[in-house]
Amino acid sequence: MEKIRNFCIIAHIDHGKSTLADRLLEFTKTVSERQMHAQVLDSMDLEQERGITIKSHAIQMDYVHDGEPYKLNLIDTPGHVDFSYEVSRSIAACEGALLIIDATQGIQAQTISNLYLAIEHDLEIIPVLNKMDLPNAMPEVVEDQIIDLIGCDREDIIRASGKTGEGVQEILNQIIYKIPHPKGDPKAPLQALIFDSVFNSFRGIIAYFKIQNGEIRKKDLVKFVATGKQYDADEVGVLKLSLQPRDVLGPGAVGYIISGIKTAKEVKVGDTITHVDNPCDKAIEGFEEVKPMVFAGVYPIDADDYEDLRAAMDKLQLNDASLTFEPESSAALGFGFRCGFLGLLHMEIIQERLEREFDMNVITTVPNVSYKAHLTDGSEITVYNPSGMPASTTVDEIEEPYIRANIITASEFIGPVMTLCLDKRGELVSQNYLTAERAELVFNLPLGEIVFDFYDKLKSISKGYASFDYHMSGFKPAKLVRLDILLNGEMVDALSTLIHFDNAYPFGRRMCEKLKELIPRQQFDIAIQAAIGAKIIARETVKAVRKDVTAKCYGGDITRKRKLLEKQKKGKKRMKQVGNVEVPQKAFLAVLKLD
Ligand code: GDP
Ligand code: MG
Repeated sequence: MEKIRNFCIIAHIDHGKSTLADRLLEFTKTVSERQMHAQVLDSMDLEQERGITIKSHAIQMDYVHDGEPYKLNLIDTPGHVDFSYEVSRSIAACEGALLIIDATQGIQAQTISNLYLAIEHDLEIIPVLNKMDLPNAMPEVVEDQIIDLIGCDREDIIRASGKTGEGVQEILNQIIYKIPHPKGDPKAPLQALIFDSVFNSFRGIIAYFKIQNGEIRKKDLVKFVATGKQYDADEVGVLKLSLQPRDVLGPGAVGYIISGIKTAKEVKVGDTITHVDNPCDKAIEGFEEVKPMVFAGVYPIDADDYEDLRAAMDKLQLNDASLTFEPESSAALGFGFRCGFLGLLHMEIIQERLEREFDMNVITTVPNVSYKAHLTDGSEITVYNPSGMPASTTVDEIEEPYIRANIITASEFIGPVMTLCLDKRGELVSQNYLTAERAELVFNLPLGEIVFDFYDKLKSISKGYASFDYHMSGFKPAKLVRLDILLNGEMVDALSTLIHFDNAYPFGRRMCEKLKELIPRQQFDIAIQAAIGAKIIARETVKAVRKDVTAKCYGGDITRKRKLLEKQKKGKKRMKQVGNVEVPQKAFLAVLKLD
């Protein structure tokens, strides 16, 4: 135990976490030169391509210091707000953290929110100034920011570069000096914290854990406390570049267990592993069921693909327990699924995986959050789809989810950032200058306003110089109404939205205008209307046109005519028939395009 160090790396996205991890693995010869490729820890294709870490990973390094062999466990964490609960569990498994800050960028929103998590868990923080090789590095300025933030001495900050390898040895030494070794009682009942799981098509689900107390042996009969399920530990071991089986692991160890688990749902991040005989008194604190926050309908473009889509979703769920879905039907889109995601990035990832790994052609509706509706009969329901909101006459009050957002920006952009947040119904909680040029703004904001285009807008008004992070903060009542869209008098359920009453009229008008742009002219007039209940609040018309693409062929060349018709048919594939109107896929996302 004295020779173990468990640590994680916290950093804002792109500050160099993965690159520096690569250097540590190289320096400790955990990966050979032959095995080395950039960002070893990011194994999923999508992670490599997008340069983000989606799942947590862990890897053990051997490092000899002063003639003594040490085991250093690096627990890598996802770098995105959607996965903040997983981050918190990875942090809970560590005794220390490297705080990496890009010397050209300075402290950003994610740096701070993850740092707070680490401090909450009493982690020893080792500040690292990265990208020192770049000519525009501002070490003194950024060091001042770090000193202000964590109250360390200037000498405590390690200057490093993931590119040149500067500072890497010093980082390893400080990990050994500063980070306390794990503590725990090998004789006590087993208590191991699950911080992640991965799906392996040959071996099933592999759960990663850190032992707080007790020991785990191969063949032990274990129990997962939250799910109550029992398993034989077919294999336990430590994580190097490959799985390395061991007979026994003790307190402080970071390892894996393979025990015939079939689906990701059985392994809950934050759950405790203990023995069936001689179980621990209580589970490790901090367990939460992760709940999806953002919902959207996913529909096959071709109705015949419905069963294939279900099979694909089932498969995705095998290794991603945070994805939820249930069948849903829409008058406009037919049969599909209402899916729940942790956030917008998670939604994009699932959409992309459906297309890439399963070759599915899908329409995704505009994302929305979940609402609590208190009905006049005294009951309460949760609504995951705007079109599922009961008529306003039966609803007493609607509550919507709120987040606490942390925004860091250059002082010159405070004005526009404030305006944006207030526009999105935000309430300013605090404003705090980190330096003369940088300020931290904290806002309470409705999550429903964020899921549209908040992040893009923030980036554009601040010319990229604002960073943003958030945490859920609960539900609050709001004056929300359901706004429906009708095409030639028929309601298009997939286009319904819940919107604040004060914004409903201008919103309805803009929706109608946008749809008018997006819906192509057809052989008859199309009336586009926005309505709240029975009341029409806006209207536009798409004028009829007689469009015969073969007309210009002058009846001559028949093959050319056929080609044109086929092309037209293909173009139609991305269209959905709603009543008698053909609606292109992008119209279902119209609300995202409003300005
Ligand atoms: P992460 O998002 O924190 O994991 O960041 P990455 O490790 O993916 O790095 C983001 C980008 O910065 C990549 O293009 C890296 O090549 C680059 N990068 C990382 N560390 C350094 C460094 O020390 N110096 C320079 N010049 N570039 C770096
Ligand atoms: Mg990374």
